[in-house]
Amino acid sequence: MSEFVTRFAPSPTGYLHKGHAFSALSAFDAARAADGRFLLRIEDIDTTRCKPEFEQAIHGDLAWLGLKWEAPVRRQSEHFPEYHAAIDQLAARGLVYRCFKTRKEILEDIARAPHHPGEGPDGAIYPRPAEPMSADEETERLDAGEAFAWRLSLRAVEAELGDLSRLTFIEEGHGPNGETGEIAIRADLIGDVIIGRKDVGTSYHLAVTMDDALQGISHVIRGEDLFFATSVHRILQSLLGLPVPVYRHHALLTGPDGKRLAKRDRSLTLKSIRDSGISARELRLQLGFNW
Ligand code: GLU
Repeated sequence: MSEFVTRFAPSPTGYLHKGHAFSALSAFDAARAADGRFLLRIEDIDTTRCKPEFEQAIHGDLAWLGLKWEAPVRRQSEHFPEYHAAIDQLAARGLVYRCFKTRKEILEDIARAPHHPGEGPDGAIYPRPAEPMSADEETERLDAGEAFAWRLSLRAVEAELGDLSRLTFIEEGHGPNGETGEIAIRADLIGDVIIGRKDVGTSYHLAVTMDDALQGISHVIRGEDLFFATSVHRILQSLLGLPVPVYRHHALLTGPDGKRLAKRDRSLTLKSIRDSGISARELRLQLGFNW
């Protein structure tokens, strides 16, 4: 039987909260049950929002929670050249294109679209321009030093991979609507998603997909808020020739108001839970982990 390898992959943009603890414990316990490996990965491509103090707190909070992970810990900010090389490869194959539009212009395009283009994993789906930008205009804008994002061209991807609904992944947990088993991806929810952000030249989607493959992750265990993003990851796996892990999405914890927990709910951070005197064992029990 092949090895079971899973990970917890937080972004150090704030303190971890109870929901993160649930996710981390789910992955850790699954690895333990399967006699497998548990890794921690720091997803810090957002160099403006990520802070060293949050990264330090992640280590402290997870150790307090009773988790152990392998060293060294992969930090995405140390691997930008690898992500950029993958984009170059996709660009050379004509699978991504430069998008110079500002957020405001994109919102205007969405408002002008005859039908609302719908919501995807990254918010409103980008209504692709009818015509690609001319080579002259592109050169002009590049020469002027204008910033651009790399967008996946679904049209080019379809030309290369064929009918995208034939791409599937195995869901051992469930999506937000109870989706489970063999799942066909939803290209209609993706649109020409950003693969390389204007500021850092990569994106969560690309970095997570490449790292899961590089680290030999066999099982991705994470919140169901990322279920639809898996469609993007599945396409990237096909384009880059990467293995497809098994996915186990889990429900998100909700607060007393029924809304999902977010980093801004200060009272629910592990830091404040620890400060209030609750023991790690008490918290684990509260979250359904009896050890
Ligand atoms: N870094 C992502 C987050 O903090 C999670 C990535 C993943 O598990 O795929 O939401």
